[in-house]
Amino acid sequence: MKTTIPGPLDRKTNTLLIWWRVWVETAAIPLLEVLPRGFDIILSLVLIVVFSPALVLRAMLAKSKLGKVFVTLQLIGRFRMPFSRLRFAGNTVGAELAVLFNILRGDMAFVGPRPMTEEEVLRLTPAQGIRLTLRPGLFSPYGLRRKVGIAYDSETTSDIDFYYSETVQGNAGLIARSLIGDLLAGGSLRPTPPLLHFFGIDITNTTMDEAVGWMVKRVKDNKPAFVAFVNPDCLNIACQNDQYRQVLSTLATRVLPDGIGINIGCRLLGVSLMANVNGTDLFPRLCEKSAAEGVSLFLLGSKPGVAEAVSLKMRERFPALSIAGVRDGYFKQEESGQIVEEINSSKADILLVAFGAPKQELWLAEHHHQLNACVCLGVGGLFDFYSGRLPRAPVWMREIGLEWTWRLLQEPGRMWRRYLIGNPLFLYRVWKQKRMANSL
Ligand code: UDP
Repeated sequence: MKTTIPGPLDRKTNTLLIWWRVWVETAAIPLLEVLPRGFDIILSLVLIVVFSPALVLRAMLAKSKLGKVFVTLQLIGRFRMPFSRLRFAGNTVGAELAVLFNILRGDMAFVGPRPMTEEEVLRLTPAQGIRLTLRPGLFSPYGLRRKVGIAYDSETTSDIDFYYSETVQGNAGLIARSLIGDLLAGGSLRPTPPLLHFFGIDITNTTMDEAVGWMVKRVKDNKPAFVAFVNPDCLNIACQNDQYRQVLSTLATRVLPDGIGINIGCRLLGVSLMANVNGTDLFPRLCEKSAAEGVSLFLLGSKPGVAEAVSLKMRERFPALSIAGVRDGYFKQEESGQIVEEINSSKADILLVAFGAPKQELWLAEHHHQLNACVCLGVGGLFDFYSGRLPRAPVWMREIGLEWTWRLLQEPGRMWRRYLIGNPLFLYRVWKQKRMANSL
């Protein structure tokens, strides 16, 4: 085959290319870097002008009541420069508005890693110190995820991801999502009890890492456990289905909180949810930990071929993971005994059952005493996501508590009753529980 070697560029093209490089290196790249700062200056100025009457009133109130306008907190900013984080003196509303002056002055940005104290900065490793090359932010990706209960990775990982991916549009989106997150799950500091009580069911209030560690430890200690995840729909079902309610309230070793609905319910009850410990986010973490600790899994449920696909994908992701067996969830009642035998002969340590609630919990309640798997979990529809059969909602939707809308759009015929009737019904039931507790 004849190959053509490109000849030298003509003079005009060459000059154009040189100027293009000069423009990119001297103007475009620095411009991209100053864009977020420009955004902060413009937005903080606009907000200061819009809120100026409120700011003046708030400052006068602070001065007249406490003799000073601001209280300050010493924090460490960009390039380890100390700065004073401003608040209006006093605890009345609007104290935090003073931070707009920090943003205008350049101490802080609207979006960036959380500002740290000097002690916290001293504890950072050199790799973690990368966050100090950014202006600390009023809103951070980690802060948002923590608020809505999905901050499963460390703050450092989240800060480093932000360092490499910051854009002006991304920042604007994060501010909007943080404000929505505040509406859903923010508010004043609330107590964080170890157990959350919804309609007579105790839900363990814990973190994702603790929940995963606990399951693997149960296997190591050979202590059988039956775990259920509940979302508002499950709790609605439990209000009408005695058998399911009994399983959740007396038989399950642990019931874990699944979804933003529980977070909103906690807010209504005046308590704080530590984390949204749902099965879908827990599953890859359980696979990772099981692979590291030599614990094996059995996947039971979903349509034929789905559990196999999950097994393949997870073993690709965690090569040391042992999946002792898989089986679809469409079988006759009388085949249950044979399936129990299949699971037992696989010698799996942890059994994940994905038939949807309450079917999976009722099946486990009937058979868990015959099963040798130490830990049994009812996990709902998560195999459909990890097999690739159904795409999961994008992170930004999960960050504003809209994963349910995604599922509704995916399967409107099956999901409309669950969400459009179930969500308001759940909130009504929580409100009723709160009212009854208050009247005692
Ligand atoms: N399923 C099953 N056997 C059945 C009924 C359902 O294996 O007899 C599976 C179904 O294929 C799906 C899951 O159970 O993968 C139920 O998913 P759903 O979305 O209802 O669960 P959720 O996570 O909402 O509880």
